[in-house]
Amino acid sequence: MVLAVIPRILGFAYALVLAPALVLLWRGGQITRRRALPLLVVSALLGFLLFAPMAPYQLQLVVLGDTAALGAPLAVVLGGLAFFFVVSLAGGRTFCGHLCPIGAIQEILSLAGHARLGRTRKRETMAVRFAVLAAVLVAGLAFSVNVLGALGVEDFFFLNVASVSFAVFAALMLLGVAVYRPFCRVICPYGAVLSLAAAKAQYRFRRTDLCIACGKCENACPVDEAKERDRKAECYMCGRCVEVCPVEGALRYARR
Ligand code: SF4
Ligand code: SF4
Repeated sequence: MVLAVIPRILGFAYALVLAPALVLLWRGGQITRRRALPLLVVSALLGFLLFAPMAPYQLQLVVLGDTAALGAPLAVVLGGLAFFFVVSLAGGRTFCGHLCPIGAIQEILSLAGHARLGRTRKRETMAVRFAVLAAVLVAGLAFSVNVLGALGVEDFFFLNVASVSFAVFAALMLLGVAVYRPFCRVICPYGAVLSLAAAKAQYRFRRTDLCIACGKCENACPVDEAKERDRKAECYMCGRCVEVCPVEGALRYARR
């Protein structure tokens, strides 16, 4: 279904504009979990229509040295990947939260279920994901193996429904009904990179003096990142914590 007539770079432009814009919108309180829902739908559709902005797969192609398949000049792709890292340093993983098609599909599917299985397994999931990042680098650089391709990323978005890898990736996405963002939390090599930046993010969801320690945000968070001292490396900016907070102003997206 991917439309070859539409330049893939438009998908990149969409994310390059919105990633920093979302930092500003969260900061100004103009966006909420519900208001961001249309963005998830648009991002998921762009994945199927343009196969962009598909940063995890772009990273895989860069590792493979397959510049012909990038869909944009190498410098633009590298600049884009670095730009999302810098935005994550400034304000967390806005790209993962609402702009990445893979993340958007899983976020939408998480609305269909409770997606709470394994939510306290942050350390374990992050450890596996860094192992996958290492595997992607070694397999790609030393053996020219396309790990994300084998997992079905491309076949899924190109709707190659007869392929085995389509079924593998579709099953991974469907798992997202019960387990919050399984691909993002356990597999995504680019998510592993962005988590390093998000752990140092200037702007993030923080408690203020108005917090009454009711624990509702902690209970609502699907990735165990709403506690006071959590680093927010795994915060997908879903907005659940802010949505359930009973005290206006007790939880703000702000600098320290
Ligand atoms: S972790 Fe990876 S797949 Fe998930 S939203 Fe971020 S870049 Fe996309
Ligand atoms: S509920 Fe958790 S993942 Fe969602 S925005 Fe709050 S801290 Fe981040």
